[in-house]
Amino acid sequence: MCGIFGITDSKEAPGLAYVGLFTLQHRGQESAGMVTDDGTQLRQHNGMGLVNEVFTGKVLESLKGRSAIGHIRYSTTGSSHLKNAQPLVLNSCLGTVAVAHNGNITNADRLKASLQKSGAIFQSTSDTEVILHLAARYRGRNLEDTLARNLPKLAGSYAFLFMAPGKVIGARDPHGYRPLVLGRLGKSYILASETCAIDVAGGKTVREIEPGEMVIISGGKVSFRRFAPARKFTRCIFEQVYFARPDAVVAGRSVQKARYEIGALLARELAGVKADLVSGVPDSGTVYALGFSEEAWIPYQTAFMRNHYTGRSFIQPDQRLREVTAHLKLAPIKDVIKGKTIILIDDSLVRGTTSREIVKSLRAAGAKKIIMAIASPPIISPCYFGIDTPNREELIANKMSVERIRRFIGADALHYLSLESLVTACGGGKDANFCVSCFTGRYNR
Ligand code: SF4
Repeated sequence: MCGIFGITDSKEAPGLAYVGLFTLQHRGQESAGMVTDDGTQLRQHNGMGLVNEVFTGKVLESLKGRSAIGHIRYSTTGSSHLKNAQPLVLNSCLGTVAVAHNGNITNADRLKASLQKSGAIFQSTSDTEVILHLAARYRGRNLEDTLARNLPKLAGSYAFLFMAPGKVIGARDPHGYRPLVLGRLGKSYILASETCAIDVAGGKTVREIEPGEMVIISGGKVSFRRFAPARKFTRCIFEQVYFARPDAVVAGRSVQKARYEIGALLARELAGVKADLVSGVPDSGTVYALGFSEEAWIPYQTAFMRNHYTGRSFIQPDQRLREVTAHLKLAPIKDVIKGKTIILIDDSLVRGTTSREIVKSLRAAGAKKIIMAIASPPIISPCYFGIDTPNREELIANKMSVERIRRFIGADALHYLSLESLVTACGGGKDANFCVSCFTGRYNR
């Protein structure tokens, strides 16, 4: 999971790209980077850390240009290291080209081996660099022709932003796994992972880039081009469950509304359950709990205080750090919990270790009974499309029944939302098709 943001034709491009990246910070916290274009020359600055740590006032001043593309990274392929921070820039016979990528190229190793055999020298260990080397090797008349020729060679998932002097190009894989939206701000165009980044930068969303579509912005004009036939739209449903900000709109439905409805559908599936209060594991669980509360007429209460300065445990790359930050960041509110039967809602249950710690801390705070409700179905299979789920053996639902998971996490009851309810709650428009492979184990070919 990463975030990408690009803006063209604005004298404030570097500052607005900063705002866009800052808004997308929840999508990755390892590194941030930006490339700007003054029409003749690209300038780059990448660094490890958060957007406000990487882009000091002095750095932003040095990034001159009327267009900018930027990236914030959480690594799924390639190590957590500055050389893998994006955008990547390559000087080749194509000229200078920068790329920012969200997704996972599943045939990158094979493509890389064959490019290396014919002399390509890679600067990073990230899968993203493959597209730049392919583009340098198999060229067309211009950058868009070159990309149209080479993008179909990639398998897996991608939302790309490319930049060359005078041009920004966005592209989305033929299944549309990872998000990419086009926005407008006066004479400027914006491309972003989430609509909320366009809103915060002061723009308006125009539309999603379609699967297999490229958008070319050059000379103040926008044009669209298909580089692959559109397949069935399979947006990652976890955007709504967990990744996207509540103020983002995915598939025509606000993430906040989708999460609220998921909570209500969970309540319907648990009809008749008795409890003193319903609460959510902050932050995403809170909206689910509010939807549940209204549907079930069970009062909502905040059972945990979240410390917002520790980062997001799921997207910290190291297991030990993940466990430590899980303890650090959630503090139970004892007065609310003591002697109560609690329905606690979390977005997903991956390894089960975080839920076990949460249940343990509720018990220690005096909870009488804990009913754990999960706002998504059991995750039985890994993600190959750019989300850092662990391998199959570490997925608790792949190796245990629901009853055994309940015992493992120590809850008195455990309920998962059905896949049907999840898709219903997320499906805002007629084209709202989603990838649900990690729940079914069936993948697109
Ligand atoms: S497999 Fe799961 S996490 Fe991966 S893209 Fe599909 S829905 Fe998203």
